[in-house]
Amino acid sequence: NDASTVFDLVILGGGSGGYAAALRGAQLGLDVALIEKNKVGGTCLHNGCIPTKALLHAGEIADQARDSAEFGVKASFDGIDMAAVHQYKDGVISGLYKGLQGLIASRKVTYVEGEGRLSSPTSVDVNGQRYEGRHVLLATGSVPKSLPGLEIDGNRVISSDHALVLDRVPQSAIVLGGGVIGVEFASAWKSFGADVTIVEALPNLVPVEDVNSSKLLERAFRKRGIKFSVGSRFSGVEYTANGVKVSLENGKTFEAELLLVAVGRGPVSQGLGYEEAGVATDRGYVLVDEYMRTNVPTISAVGDLVPTLQLAHVGFAEGILVAERLAGLPTVPIDYDGVPRVTYCHPEVASVGVTEEKAKERYGADKVVTLKYNLGGNGKSRILKTTGEIKLVQVRDGAVVGVHMVGDRMGEQVGEAQLIYNWEALPAEVAQLIHAHPTQNEALGEAHLALAGKPLHS
Ligand code: FAD
Repeated sequence: NDASTVFDLVILGGGSGGYAAALRGAQLGLDVALIEKNKVGGTCLHNGCIPTKALLHAGEIADQARDSAEFGVKASFDGIDMAAVHQYKDGVISGLYKGLQGLIASRKVTYVEGEGRLSSPTSVDVNGQRYEGRHVLLATGSVPKSLPGLEIDGNRVISSDHALVLDRVPQSAIVLGGGVIGVEFASAWKSFGADVTIVEALPNLVPVEDVNSSKLLERAFRKRGIKFSVGSRFSGVEYTANGVKVSLENGKTFEAELLLVAVGRGPVSQGLGYEEAGVATDRGYVLVDEYMRTNVPTISAVGDLVPTLQLAHVGFAEGILVAERLAGLPTVPIDYDGVPRVTYCHPEVASVGVTEEKAKERYGADKVVTLKYNLGGNGKSRILKTTGEIKLVQVRDGAVVGVHMVGDRMGEQVGEAQLIYNWEALPAEVAQLIHAHPTQNEALGEAHLALAGKPLHS
C-alpha cells in the first residue's frame, strides 16, 4: 500500500507499543501503516531493555570470574574490553532487529521511515505525503529527562543513551536517580570495576518497590561496595579538572569522572500536531481511558507516551489492546497492579501486585498478612551463593495480592508470581503445587507452604 490508501490504522512511532499494535492489527486483517523516524523496535530494543541487559550479563560474567575461586575454579578477572562488550551487545540487538523487520514485512504492514506529524484526527504527514487512517495510534514514546539547570552534554553529564555507547568503563561515576535505570547502570558499572555512587532524593533506592525489597537491595549494594546517598535532593553540578562535582541540598558533595542522569523519562509529544488535533495532555502525557482512547474519537495512544507504567511489556499489552479493539474483538482493561516488574541489577528485584503499604491502605491494616521466606533455606540459591528474600502480601484468609522478591535470577520467578496474583490463588492452592527441587522457583512454593501454615524448610 502507499499514501493514497485509506488505512484502518496509522501508527506514529514504531517502539514496543506501536509495533505490537501493528503486528497484532495486521494479524487480525487490519490495513496498517507504521511510521518510524529512527529504527523499528524503539527505545526498548535499541536504547533500553535489551542493551542494558546485555551489559548487565557481561557484568555478571565479570563477577563470576572475580568470584570463581569460591567455587574452586581457577580463573581471574583481568578487566573489560569495552569494544568487545559493545560487539556482543550490538550483535544481540541486530539479530532481534532483523527478526522484527522480517515480521513487519511478512505481516504486510506498510512501513514508512520518516518523521511523522499528526495533521488531522485521521491523518499523519510524513516525507511530504499524507497517510489517512480510519484510526490513528500515537506511540511516540519517551526520552530521558533532566532536572532544571542540569544540562546533559553527552560528555561528562550523560543520559542512558550515552551510557549505552560509552567506549570505556568510567573510573568513577555518580548516578543521579536510584530508580530502575539508575540502579541497573550502577550495578553493571560496578561489576565492570568502576567506583559508583548513587544519589536518590527519596528515602530508598528503587522507591516504587516494597520497602523490604529496597532495604535488601541497599544491603546487597553496600556489600558490593556500591555507595549511595538517599533522602537528599541534587542541588548542583560543577565541572572539575577531570570530571564533575555534584552537590546535594544537605551539603554533601561527590566527585567523579562522570554523572549519569537517570531521573526518569518524559513523553515525546511536543510539536507533533497533537494539541492542534485537540488531543488532551497532562504535563506532556497523552491522556487516555482504560481502553487507551484519547478524548478524540479517532485517536488512541499507548506506551511511554501515556501516564501508565513505563515498561516495554506494558507497551506491548496496550498496543495489542488497541489493535484488538479496532478489529472488533472483546477487550478488557489492563490491571496495572498485575504487571510484573523486574529490576535486573545484581541482585535482581522482582515484584507483582501491591506493596504491603498499599495493601494496608486498600484493605485495612488489620486485614493484611505478610510472610518472608529467606533464600538461605533454598538449596539452589545456596549453590549459586545468592542471598535474598521472597515476601508475600496476603489479604487475611484470602488471596496473595503482592509478591516481592530480591535475589539473583529472581526475575525469572516473576512469571509464576504473576499467575498467582492474576488468578487470585489462595496460599493453600499454590502450596499444593509441586515445585521442582532444587530450583530457585521452589522458594516461591516454600513461601506459600509457610503462608498456608505448613512450612517445610523454614
Ligand atoms: P519507544 O520505545 O520510545 O518508541 C517510540 C518510537 O517512536 C521511537 O522508535 C521513536 O523513534 C518514534 N518516534 C518518536 N517520534 C516520532 C515521529 N515524530 N515520527 C516517527 N517516529 C517517531 N522496559 C522493560 O519492560 N524492561 C526493561 O528491562 C527496560 N529497561 C530499560 C532500560 C533503559 C535504559 C530504558 C531507557 C528503558 C527501559 N525500559 C524497560 C522501558 C522501555 O524501553 C519502554 O517502556 C518502551 O520502549 C516504551 O515503548 P514505546 O513504544 O512507548 O516508546
